[in-house]
Amino acid sequence: MNVPSNKFEKKDIIKVENRYLETDETNKLSLIAPHATINIIKDYKLAEKRKIQLPDFITGIFKCPNLRCVTIGENIKSVIEVIDKEKIILKCKYCGRILSIDELIF
Ligand SMILES: [Zn+2]
Repeated sequence: MNVPSNKFEKKDIIKVENRYLETDETNKLSLIAPHATINIIKDYKLAEKRKIQLPDFITGIFKCPNLRCVTIGENIKSVIEVIDKEKIILKCKYCGRILSIDELIF
């Protein structure tokens, strides 16, 4: 959703209803929206404001796009290291390949 905002030209809202987001899950959202703030609304009240933060490692969410990577084929959970949290530069811990966010396979 695009909502007018004073701070930026527009702001996008991702609304997740009827479930509590674990910190883990809000961190996943950080890949889509690295500078977002999560407002947890409970009983129509703002219960918590959580600044989104990229974790140092993202485990098991994405697949490494390198077909020769040991995590492909074997049943190994991928471990993607976040090298640069501002520019979002990622690196596969297993094959060392530098990844951009568009390359990741969900
Ligand atoms: Zn890899």
